[in-house]
Order: sequence, then structure tokens, then C-alpha cells
Amino acid sequence: MFDWLMPGIPRTVADEPDMGTVRRIRESVMSDTGQAVESDLLLPCPFCGGVPYVQVNDLSETCVGARVVCGSCHASTVHEYQCWRVWHGDDELTRTLAVGRAISSWNRREGRNDERGRYGDR
Ligand SMILES: [Zn+2]
Repeated sequence: MFDWLMPGIPRTVADEPDMGTVRRIRESVMSDTGQAVESDLLLPCPFCGGVPYVQVNDLSETCVGARVVCGSCHASTVHEYQCWRVWHGDDELTRTLAVGRAISSWNRREGRNDERGRYGDR
């Protein structure tokens, strides 16, 4: 269901970002405090049905970490990282890509997404 979110996100420096994917991630953002991003792409928490958000951490000049946390029971994904800066012209995509990785990690559910969609496996 969310396979579209994964293949277009660059995994290596040489990869070209898929701007359609970047746009969908950005358009899904309902609120962004800088450290907490709400996205309407996020599925409800599989444990309690709560509403999740993306927790974003600027780890260094070049590295952004993001994970999804349930606002009710605090279940979370592991941190996903975007550790090189990605630009599309003047538009920096680094943070959006970290958020996108976290969203697709959270939305990956048993029986819903096949192995082909997993990061690093393509
Ligand atoms: Zn929960």
C-alpha cells in the first residue's frame, strides 16, 4: 500500500531523489513544530490505535534522524537516518527524506508490504 514511499527515496549519494515522492511526503504534513511532525500518511498505532507523529532530531550538520512515536502508548520505530545532505537545485530534501523513511518504517506491517519494499534491499 505504501510501496510508493520507499523506492523513490535515495539510499546512496548517487541516487536521484524522486520529487513526486518528496512532494507527497511534504503534502502529507499537517503540523510541524520542528521536532514533531504530524503526517496524514501515518497509519494508526498497531498496538493501541493511537495517533502517531514523527520525532525529528538534527544530529549534526549533515545527519538528520527520525522515528515515529505513538502519541498514546509511545511505541516507536527505530531511528531512521538521512546522513548526507540531498539537494534538488536550491531545495534541501534532507529532512523530508528522513521523515519519509520513518513513515515508511512505521507503516510497514506484516502482510501489507512485501520484502521488496524494504530499505536497503533493492
Ligand atoms: Zn500506541
